[in-house]
Amino acid sequence: MRITRLDAPGYERVERAEDPETGLVAFISVHSTTLGPALGGMRLWPYRSEDEALDDVLRLSRGMTYKSALAQTGLGGGKSVVIADRDQKTPALFEAMGRFIEQFGGVYVTAEDVNVTVDDLRAVRRSTAHVCGLTTAEGGGGDPGPYTAYGCFLGIRESLRMATGSGLEGRTVAIQGTGSVGQELGRRLAGEGARLVVADLNEANVERVVEELGAVAVDPEEIYDVDCAAFAPCALGGVLNDDTIPRLRCAVVAGAANNQLLDEERHSEALRARGILYAPDYVINAGGIVNVACELVAGGYDEDVALERIERIPVALREIFAAAEARGLTPQAAAQHLAETALARGRPEAST
Ligand code: NAD
Repeated sequence: MRITRLDAPGYERVERAEDPETGLVAFISVHSTTLGPALGGMRLWPYRSEDEALDDVLRLSRGMTYKSALAQTGLGGGKSVVIADRDQKTPALFEAMGRFIEQFGGVYVTAEDVNVTVDDLRAVRRSTAHVCGLTTAEGGGGDPGPYTAYGCFLGIRESLRMATGSGLEGRTVAIQGTGSVGQELGRRLAGEGARLVVADLNEANVERVVEELGAVAVDPEEIYDVDCAAFAPCALGGVLNDDTIPRLRCAVVAGAANNQLLDEERHSEALRARGILYAPDYVINAGGIVNVACELVAGGYDEDVALERIERIPVALREIFAAAEARGLTPQAAAQHLAETALARGRPEAST
């Protein structure tokens, strides 16, 4: 395996690995370990170029730093991406990825992300111990997806209450992406009486929520035009941009996808100018990382502790919305300010 260290100003350590034997081409980015080991999932995606993959891993790892800082997980921010299609997944590929992770000596700890399952992580675990998100029987906290969905559900409900003063009963929520998080989010929303409009490139995933929850499916390109109370991006990043923001017909954007704003400053301002309340993605989607972080606490994983911490997400959102209003900032800028303040304070034990 050939491992190359890359120059990335503002990042602690970024490396590229290529393993001709297994076909692995991957990047690991450790953005910050100021608050603890850099924990962040592994994404497998058929990126069109290595530049695109590198750009993604950099943005995602930085987002993890802020997410963990605000969720007070005691962790730093990192991420890994593997350039591959789902049908190229093999145990050997993930074992090679485990060897790459092992080189970081615990500075980077991985977990699931898009296209990477608990089974895949089991293969990674054969080469490194620095893996979270395995099943409870294996000492883990299980797939973080449902926990992310729970936090996201609580966050949508809170954001809607802040923006409109009412609850979910009879309101429409448009979900973009009905994968691991989107499906469970749909179940929780439907359980509270919301109507669902959904879109996904994967037809089987759409059919499941249509059949199980009575959701209405629309073409993936039309999800931005749906007249709804809340739009919940739960697919990929960059979906809030110059083309899509003018089309939105919602009071709230609140979803699980990472890096939803194509340009954080400009597009968070554009949402505010349209009177749409935006729940910063790395705050509302912290349920998964909070659950995973509970694997690393003394005494081991306890689901009750994880759920109680996830239930703080709406509280954090409320604080961010209030800070944004008081200081004339967008919620995104207010969240960033709070995260940077936490980073500047450093680890609690470092300051005593
Ligand atoms: P997933 O792979 O299970 O689901 C993603 C779904 O989005 C898939 O069904 C895919 O077909 C669909 N999709 C992709 N492009 C699309 C498009 N253009 N239009 C409509 N659908 C599209 O992933 P997931 O675990 O559900 O995660 C969803 C998002 O939430 C990702 O951005 C992920 O990074 C983020 N996230 C996930 C977690 C977690 O715990 N799983 C935690 C935090 C953030």
